[in-house]
Amino acid sequence: MTPPTYDANRNALLEERERLLHQLEELGADETGNLTGAVDFGDAFADAGAATAARTRTLGLIENLAANVKDVDLALTRIADGTYGTCIVCGEAIPPERLEFRPTSVRCVSCKATAN
Ligand SMILES: [Zn+2]
Repeated sequence: MTPPTYDANRNALLEERERLLHQLEELGADETGNLTGAVDFGDAFADAGAATAARTRTLGLIENLAANVKDVDLALTRIADGTYGTCIVCGEAIPPERLEFRPTSVRCVSCKATAN
């Protein structure tokens, strides 16, 4: 029996990566979350408090998106090296349904539950 190739998962991950990079670009950041240039932090707000809140929200979004890119890259690396589909913590197999639902999964459900 040949091992699964996870082509569908890889495609889903690559699409997800494109989507994340596009969102990051629109927010003015690169794939690692570094700001690439002029970012509109809502400095046009008359209210400095509102501007600060908008800035905080944007930076939070960028941070989340960059973290998601890292998850996608980790999953892609694991597909490439043949470890995809096994839990990164305990080595148990991750159910295909879980991988299909969330292709970036690198932990089984029980390890995910205990992860920080
Ligand atoms: Zn596990």
